[in-house]
Amino acid sequence: MKKFRGVFLKNDNEIALMREANHIVYLILQAMAAEIRPGTASMRFEEIAQDLCGKYKVRPSFQGYRGFPYALCCSINEEVVHGFPSAGRRLKEGDLVSLDMGVVLEGFHGDAARTFPVGEVSAAAARLLRFTAEALEDGTAAARPGNRLRDISAAVQKKAETHNFGLIRRFVGHGVGSKLHEKPEIPNFVSEATPDLPLLAGMVLAIEPMFSLGSGEVDILSDEWTAVTRDRSLAAHFEHSVAVTARGPLVLDC
Ligand code: MG
Repeated sequence: MKKFRGVFLKNDNEIALMREANHIVYLILQAMAAEIRPGTASMRFEEIAQDLCGKYKVRPSFQGYRGFPYALCCSINEEVVHGFPSAGRRLKEGDLVSLDMGVVLEGFHGDAARTFPVGEVSAAAARLLRFTAEALEDGTAAARPGNRLRDISAAVQKKAETHNFGLIRRFVGHGVGSKLHEKPEIPNFVSEATPDLPLLAGMVLAIEPMFSLGSGEVDILSDEWTAVTRDRSLAAHFEHSVAVTARGPLVLDC
């Protein structure tokens, strides 16, 4: 595979395959979304993930990745990312539930996440969902040839700052392809350390803004995976796998 400054460039066939992998992720997320209601145990979403991976003949990307025990990352309320599904934890009216799923199809990964409201949520929670999703759309729109990597980061950061959300800086987006996490890292903010990388057709980027209602600081729980906001404020996480193409950004998980 061709590479530019350490970033793999996928050809049209590889992008088509990644589109298929991500379409399966999309279908799995849709199936889970249909089960979101007060009373559903979060382990139900893991069962759906496992069943549908079998049905579509794909392997879950996350299970076994650095020892992660589940197919699905399921993060509720103050949990930002990497939460564990649980048979004992049932969704409640007003919760936010973030579902992050990845699959491997013929050696290529799909990776996407959405945060959903459970029943009626507070106005502040609804606003958090709306603007984190918008940040993803803005970041995605910047993923085009002629732009630089930092244009994606800047678009996400601007949304958080304009609307006064906590911006979670500890976790970043990433290149995705035959490995779940490839170069480049895609921070949700611009800093001196952000590489000045031009975006080229063939790059496939997992863009994943994470915002909170409080500060952007996070802690990792004693399970060594679950990331929570330090102030336990609500968090949201949205992620697309996006191919940079000559015709502009192509969202693969749809
Ligand atoms: Mg990801």
